[in-house]
Amino acid sequence: MKTETRVVVIGGGVIGASVLFHLARAGWTDVMMIERSELTSGSSWHAAGGFHTLNGDPNIAKLQAYTVSLYEELEKISGQPCGLHLTGGVMMADTEERMDFLRLTHARGRCSGVDSELITPSEAKAMFPLMDESNFVGALWDPVQGHLDPSGTTHAYAKSAQKLGAEIVLRNKVEEITQDPDGTWNVVTEQGTVRCEHVVNAAGLWAREVGRMVGLELPILAMEHMYLLTDDMPEVIEFNQDTGHQLISVIDFKGEIYTRQERNGMLLGTYEKAGVPWSPVNTPWDFGHELLEPDLERIAPSLEVGFKHFPAFERAGIKQVINGPFTFAPDGNPLVGPVQGLTNYWTACGVMAGFSQGGGVGLTLANWMVNNDPGLDVFAMDVTRYGEWATLRYTNAKVRENYSRRFSISYPNEELPAGRPQQTTPLYDIMITENNAVMGDSWGLETPLWFAPKGVEPVDIPSFHRSNSFEHVGAEVRAVRGSVGVTEISNFAKYEITGEAAEAWLSNLMTNTMPKTGRLVLTPMLNEQGKLIGDFTIAKAAENRFQIWGSSAAQVYHMRWFESHLPASGVKIHAYGQTMSGLSIAGPNSRKLLQKLVDFDISNQNFRFMDYVETAVAGVPCKLNRITYSGDLGYEIWTEPTYLRQLYRAIKEAGIEFDIKDFGLRALLSMRLEKNFPTWFAELRPVYGPYAADMGRFVKLSKNGFIGREIAAQEHADGPEIKRVTLVIDADTADVISDEPIWTKTTKHYASIPETSTYGGTKYDADGNPTQRPKNTDGWRVVGWVTSGGYGHFVEKSLAQGYLPSDLADRVEDGFFEVEILGIRYPARLAPEPLFDPSGAKMRS
Ligand SMILES: Cc1cc2nc3c(=O)[nH]c(=O)nc-3n(C[C@H](O)[C@H](O)[C@H](O)COP(=O)(O)OP(=O)(O)OC[C@H]3O[C@@H](n4cnc5c(N)ncnc54)[C@H](O)[C@@H]3O)c2cc1C
Repeated sequence: MKTETRVVVIGGGVIGASVLFHLARAGWTDVMMIERSELTSGSSWHAAGGFHTLNGDPNIAKLQAYTVSLYEELEKISGQPCGLHLTGGVMMADTEERMDFLRLTHARGRCSGVDSELITPSEAKAMFPLMDESNFVGALWDPVQGHLDPSGTTHAYAKSAQKLGAEIVLRNKVEEITQDPDGTWNVVTEQGTVRCEHVVNAAGLWAREVGRMVGLELPILAMEHMYLLTDDMPEVIEFNQDTGHQLISVIDFKGEIYTRQERNGMLLGTYEKAGVPWSPVNTPWDFGHELLEPDLERIAPSLEVGFKHFPAFERAGIKQVINGPFTFAPDGNPLVGPVQGLTNYWTACGVMAGFSQGGGVGLTLANWMVNNDPGLDVFAMDVTRYGEWATLRYTNAKVRENYSRRFSISYPNEELPAGRPQQTTPLYDIMITENNAVMGDSWGLETPLWFAPKGVEPVDIPSFHRSNSFEHVGAEVRAVRGSVGVTEISNFAKYEITGEAAEAWLSNLMTNTMPKTGRLVLTPMLNEQGKLIGDFTIAKAAENRFQIWGSSAAQVYHMRWFESHLPASGVKIHAYGQTMSGLSIAGPNSRKLLQKLVDFDISNQNFRFMDYVETAVAGVPCKLNRITYSGDLGYEIWTEPTYLRQLYRAIKEAGIEFDIKDFGLRALLSMRLEKNFPTWFAELRPVYGPYAADMGRFVKLSKNGFIGREIAAQEHADGPEIKRVTLVIDADTADVISDEPIWTKTTKHYASIPETSTYGGTKYDADGNPTQRPKNTDGWRVVGWVTSGGYGHFVEKSLAQGYLPSDLADRVEDGFFEVEILGIRYPARLAPEPLFDPSGAKMRS
């Protein structure tokens, strides 16, 4: 074993092997994987080996498609078969609501290149005769699904990596990890110490323990998972003989079942409601190639539905029951990337679908290590999406909830209860008991979403359509726009940057010029590739002192970036977390209200739009911004949590004469849509440049250099290929959620949209081959995608933001576009100017 190498990858499961392969393929061949036992000694060996491309998040869908496309290449490089069976598969819907979910999934897939199709139960039955189709109302067919040999595939990655020069050390446990002051890692193993630049934690079932070796508590929990293998089934053998190929794979949401052919029988797995965690605190080191005790009682409810939906299963004998553990993060997505606060310590763990996602995880992590950028939009699996609030017990509650809901419908207005409340502000009880608030989880913090009037139960009824909160959110918006409202904004991320080099440092990080003392600026932040990685409000509070506000869910993500760009001295960053709270008042009477609470003149001349001051509000020390995300006249007021109740009470009291109303996050988001304001994670993501995102006015190319400047300048000079737009849609009972396709009538194919999106109404034969594949049905094709949207309650319009090719981004004709909502295409037109207060006079005067 070498004692020095560039990278040590800990763990020889499918993920470690994929990372090793991708590093070597990217040219980092001085890399080593250390495995405590044999390859696949964690979850990988007993996986059911299923893979698919469909995913609710289009960015993850892309990574899954990449993973599946990689297997043939791996086989070629390694000479090791992966045992690939690309059978295709269907997801079966038993209700119209489930069909809505499939329609949405199908529509989203159009934008990310998933070539799926909605089919009838009989069409599904023709491909999978074991089902009783009368239990279903429809299905979604995905040709890129199947199964493989998990062990063969892991070995194929490993052998490919070795062929490219990587080293693999087996039967050698990593016992300790330390770091020298110069950043060199010492990976202490049973066979000695390896010194390296980078450590990758791909330790799967033991990722928590390997995290703890460097003081990390990763939000990961293993769950027991069972699948059955049946004896040979005559129905299966007959189908194979008749058609010459295998049965497709099937997901039955109602039964929480997935099933596929295994040899001459079937494999049937469940995500049962009563899922059980495995080793919730410490993973035993002596666990290896062994299985857990099966518990058929636990999955009996799923099997009962399964026998009804697939009667042949009831007749089949059970050959074997596999029960094995594998790990999940609270939201079921992997934890990938560099860890904030540690230099060159990377995670590639918490991967619950290693054979769908392993290639994508390996590719993006290797890109990140080699090029300092993942190359794709991977926020959905970035390890920084959790903060310290995601503790062991919180993770336990959330993972169990997630597991039990793996095949449940996820609604856009649904707030899941497990692990909550985790963090609350001092207003929490007031919001619940006095204000009848419906609370949501905003990065671990309870945040008011909307307020139920007296006599109305404060609950959200999950729906894809306009929900029970619709009219109440509307009333909140109208109250703000008509007079004044107050909302809690403690969920924003807040930072203080101090030091003699603070201004120069910030200026180098941000695209806008820094404000003068007492002023605010809005500014994007770019990465070296000239793409958006942040969007902030910055106040210059005093010489060498700045206050910054950003997106709550990106707090650790941004701290990782800030810290990795800190100079040796002259700049200090403090993340306030929940040690600073905030309220926002907005609406035409907000100035009159605030004037009652402050002791200086806040007329428009004396306290202008985008001014900042540190002052007492209602006798409470505050930081005061003249700005609001509602796009109305308004203010953000920041104070320590100990003052928050006092401040809130004073605002409410002073607001009585203006008929002040509490408003929640949903109303705020509705109002920002009416102003065409973008939002982080939706319109603003690391795949868009600032000019594409219509943020060019905040980019000062003429100022001294800033990160990403040259590429931004190029984007400006060339003009962006795509542009952010706002659309008004003639929708009726449902508004867009996100990632829906935007259509228009054209014969032109745009590079930003996959070719497969142009197919429609495909018919399939019993083998899953398209028999009729009309391109461009009615001459319309997908040309763009929605990033977010909803209802603008004041302007009374259904609104969406999204991206279109630049040469279409000025086509304002009525009905030039259509937006697909739950399978129906609605006419849409561009709104080049905000529908509310297009000149911005209300917020400025
Ligand atoms: C019953 C079951 C069915 C499944 N079905 C599917 C499926 O159909 N499709 C799918 O995509 N996924 C499936 N999965 C999930 C899949 O198995 C995992 O996503 C995948 O195996 C995770 O791989 P990994 O490399 O992250 O972890 P692991 O496979 O757990 O590998 C981690 C490796 O790290 C090694 N290691 C840990 N600590 C150390 C140390 N200190 N020193 C050295 N080595 C160390 C371990 O020995 C182990 O070999 C299933 C899982 C189970 C249990």
